Amino acid sequence: MNKKTEKRKERSRFRILVLVFIAAFIMTVAGDMLHKDFGGYFIKEATMENGRELILVNSENKVPEDFETELVTLTNGEKVDSLIYPRLQEMFDDMRAEGYYPQVVSGYRDSEKQEDIFENKYAAFRGEGYSKKEARKLTEKWVAEPGTSEHETGLAVDINPDREKSGNEVYKWLEKNAHKYGFIKRYPEEKTEITGIADESWHYRYVGEKAAKVMKEKNLCLEEYIEYIS
Ligand SMILES: [Zn+2]
Repeated sequence: MNKKTEKRKERSRFRILVLVFIAAFIMTVAGDMLHKDFGGYFIKEATMENGRELILVNSENKVPEDFETELVTLTNGEKVDSLIYPRLQEMFDDMRAEGYYPQVVSGYRDSEKQEDIFENKYAAFRGEGYSKKEARKLTEKWVAEPGTSEHETGLAVDINPDREKSGNEVYKWLEKNAHKYGFIKRYPEEKTEITGIADESWHYRYVGEKAAKVMKEKNLCLEEYIEYIS
């Protein structure tokens, strides 16, 4: 091998090394930025094959583009899907009759509102001194990424006590009784590994009475129930 060929080979080896280095650098630096967009491509659309009320929306199944909601506005301005309204009303009436005062603090959200909530939470974690990566991880634990929140279906509600009249006993009542009205506590503490969402005592999802009863009896979260009936 002559010197020229050897030099050329060395040069091309060096070029490859530089390219690999640049690629690695771009992937590391842009990783955080791209995460969301790349994530979006790999999330499949949630199906309604088990019925509208059993649509499974989570970090792996996003709300279908053509999902339509018929919204009913509550007295406090929050909106819910008309499918859940009568049962929600009935549940709240029964609660009030027993001396518990719940209120829907968050019902339907469009994807823009979900985006705002996500960005605000992320900014708050950044403000607390977390790195970009840590802040994103923490945010994802508490707030679903736009397109992957049940609130975008109108089938989920965040219920808090009306603090002037009630306390945390409202959550206890819901945990014990909501299934009778077709609602489930969507993110129980012991199911965090499966749902990917931290324990939320306020987030209730309408799945219909039949499913809610089975889920309650067998202690299944929605992900598990869908598998159970498939
Ligand atoms: Zn919620």
